[in-house]
Amino acid sequence: MLACLTLFLFLLPCALAHCTSKTMIRAFTIFCKLNFIKLSAMELFTEAMRDFSKDKLSTLVFPCPFCGTKHPHWSEFASYERDLISYEKSLAVTYKITVSRIICSSCGHTHAILPEIIIPYSSYSLIFILKVLRDYYLSHMTVQQLCDKYTIAASTLYSWKQLFLLHKKLWLGVLEDAVTKPLTFLSSLPSAATSDELACFFQSQARSFLQGVTKTAHFNSA
Ligand SMILES: [Zn+2]
Repeated sequence: MLACLTLFLFLLPCALAHCTSKTMIRAFTIFCKLNFIKLSAMELFTEAMRDFSKDKLSTLVFPCPFCGTKHPHWSEFASYERDLISYEKSLAVTYKITVSRIICSSCGHTHAILPEIIIPYSSYSLIFILKVLRDYYLSHMTVQQLCDKYTIAASTLYSWKQLFLLHKKLWLGVLEDAVTKPLTFLSSLPSAATSDELACFFQSQARSFLQGVTKTAHFNSA
């Protein structure tokens, strides 16, 4: 937990300094918690947002990703709704979640708070995509059966596979990637170490794991 907290507090400014869009704050803490497996995507989101609740914002010690001020005064600015699609109890479930935007007292820029189960600009949760890919590499179903199970298009599946293989290489490095089968890598995700690893990926790549190319970083659609 301490390691996660360290990354939470100190990696983000570095990561976001290189990010093309500085309008979001990524919070990597939830997979550190041992009971995450038992929680729904909605419960994971709610849990992750506790650190950014309205009553805690005034005491939040968090550097601004845009101006770099170490201890700005944060306050609530706005919120917006988005979908978060999960796969629970053998069904694809779409939750409506409310994403908070907070404003930096130093520069006036606002930032959406996105916990790690959210992939920016995608409605599908990280856990959902990992589950689809694990099923795909297990090869116990045809592509059509798999797409029917998760109610996704085959083109979506193949685009996730392509992105996954690219990001796996970036995550592991070329040498380790070459000797690590996709299913072996997938079987290690998510674990208690995943929050830290996702933070490292975000820091080094200036984008989130399994985040596709964003043509336009819309203000309120992350
Ligand atoms: Zn600022």
